[in-house]
Amino acid sequence: MDRAPTPPTGPTRVLVIGGGFAGLECARELAGDDRFEVTLIDRTNHHLFQPLLYQVATAALAAPDIARSTRQIFAGERNVTVLMDEIVSIDAAAVSATGKSGAVYQADRMLVCVGARTSWFGHDEWEKRSLGLKTLADARAVRRQVLQNLENAELTPGSAERAKLMTVAIIGGGPTGVELAGAFADLVHRSLKTDFRRIDTSTLRVILIEGSGRVLEAYDEDQSEYARRRLEKLGVEVMTGVRVSDIQGDTLHFNDGNTLESAAIIWAAGVAAHPLAATLTEPADRGGRIRPEPDLSLPGHPHVFLAGDIVSLKNEDGSPVPGVAPAAVQMGQHVARILQREADQPGRERPPFRYHDKGMMAIIGKNAAVAKTGSMRLRGFPAWLAWLFIHIAFLVGFRNKLAVLLGWAYAYIRNEPETRIIVGDRDGA
Ligand SMILES: Cc1cc2nc3c(=O)[nH]c(=O)nc-3n(C[C@H](O)[C@H](O)[C@H](O)COP(=O)(O)OP(=O)(O)OC[C@H]3O[C@@H](n4cnc5c(N)ncnc54)[C@H](O)[C@@H]3O)c2cc1C
Repeated sequence: MDRAPTPPTGPTRVLVIGGGFAGLECARELAGDDRFEVTLIDRTNHHLFQPLLYQVATAALAAPDIARSTRQIFAGERNVTVLMDEIVSIDAAAVSATGKSGAVYQADRMLVCVGARTSWFGHDEWEKRSLGLKTLADARAVRRQVLQNLENAELTPGSAERAKLMTVAIIGGGPTGVELAGAFADLVHRSLKTDFRRIDTSTLRVILIEGSGRVLEAYDEDQSEYARRRLEKLGVEVMTGVRVSDIQGDTLHFNDGNTLESAAIIWAAGVAAHPLAATLTEPADRGGRIRPEPDLSLPGHPHVFLAGDIVSLKNEDGSPVPGVAPAAVQMGQHVARILQREADQPGRERPPFRYHDKGMMAIIGKNAAVAKTGSMRLRGFPAWLAWLFIHIAFLVGFRNKLAVLLGWAYAYIRNEPETRIIVGDRDGA
C-alpha cells in the first residue's frame, strides 16, 4: 500500500480532470474546505446526466433537462475554479496537465476521470456510418436523424427508399439499446401516430440487434426474457445471436450473410476508456481501462488518482466493478476523503476503495423496467416506478429536477413529447 506523500504547505492544489460523475463528486466533497484549492477542468461547460441521454435521443426530453452548467454548480464555492479546456496530455510525475488551449495546469494532487467514449471495436470507419450515444451532441444527432427520416418518408412515395427511411436499427442489446428501442417504439406508436398524413408512423421498424444470445446479458435470464417479450409487445423486432460484420452506406451486413437497409443506424454496442488513460499506464483490458492501486492512485504515482469509467477494478469476489454512475461517484468520494485524511494527518495509510453495489435498472418503454439489486429482482411497473424515483433523486442538485419531472409527467399523460423540433445539422448540435 502506498504511503501518502508529504502534503505541500498552504492549500493543496487539486486538479480534477473531467467534470462527470467522478470529478463532480470529488470537487463537491472538497468544496468549501479551505485546505484545498480545486481546479476542475472539462472540455464541455456542463455536467451531463448520461443515464437520460436516450430520452433526449427519442424526443422525450430537451438537452438542457439533463445537463447543468458546471460553473453554475460551483458558483458559490470560492475554493473551486471551473475551466473549460480539453486536456491533451498528462505528466503524472510532474502532476501537471496540458490543455488544448496551450495552458499547463500544475497541481499538488490530480484526479483523472475523463470517462469513456463510444467504441466501434476497431472498426473506426463505422463511426461515419452510424450514430453513437455518449454526448448531448450524439443524442441530438440521433433525434434529428430519426425525425428527419420520417419527414423524408412523408415526401417519398411507397418504395424501398421509404422502407429504408422507416427503419431504425439499434446495434447492442445492453441497457442503452433496450432503453432506446423501447422509447422509439413508444414515440412512433403513441406520440407521433396522428402527426403524419402519408405515412403510418406505427409501421416504422425498430430493430434491436444483439450479438449474444439475449438482451440485457448482465441481468438474470428471466429478466432478459421479460425485456425481450416486453419489447416485442411494443413492436420492436429483437434479433439475438447476430453480429454486424460490416456497415456500407445504409446497409448493415451480418455474420449470417443477411443484410438490412436502414437510414438510421445507431451504435449502442460498446464503450472504451478515453484514450488519455492509455497514456498513463498499460491498459488492463480490451476496453482500454487502466488498473489503479487499491487506493485508486496511479501505480508509481501516489499524487495522481484515477476514477470512473477509465478504471478497471475488481470487487473482492472477483467480479468487475461496473462502469456505472454510482461506481464513479463512490470513487470520486473515496479520493476526496483520502485527500482530506491526509490533510488532517499526513502519512496516514490509505484505505482501499470498496464498491457498494446499488444494483442496476433498465427501462423498457413506458411503464416497464427490470431492476436487480442484491437478491431483489423487480420487473414491470414497480421496477419502472423505482427507476423513476431513483433517477429523480439522483438529479438532486440539478436545478432542472422539477423541469425534468414536469416534462416527464406531461409526456406521460399526453403522449406528447415537446422536443420534436429538427434543428441544425449533425455537426452543429
Ligand atoms: C447512454 C448511456 C446511458 C447510461 N445509463 C446509465 C444508467 O442508467 N445508470 C448508470 O449508473 N450508468 C449509466 N451510464 C454510465 C455512466 O454514465 C458512466 O458510468 C459515468 O458517466 C462514468 O462517470 P465518469 O465520471 O467516469 O465519466 P463521465 O461522466 O463520462 O465524465 C467524463 C467527463 O470528462 C470530460 N472529458 C473527457 N475528455 C476530456 C478531456 N480530454 N479534457 C477535459 N475533460 C474531458 C467529459 O466532457 C465528461 O464531462 C450510461 C452511459 C451512457 C453513455
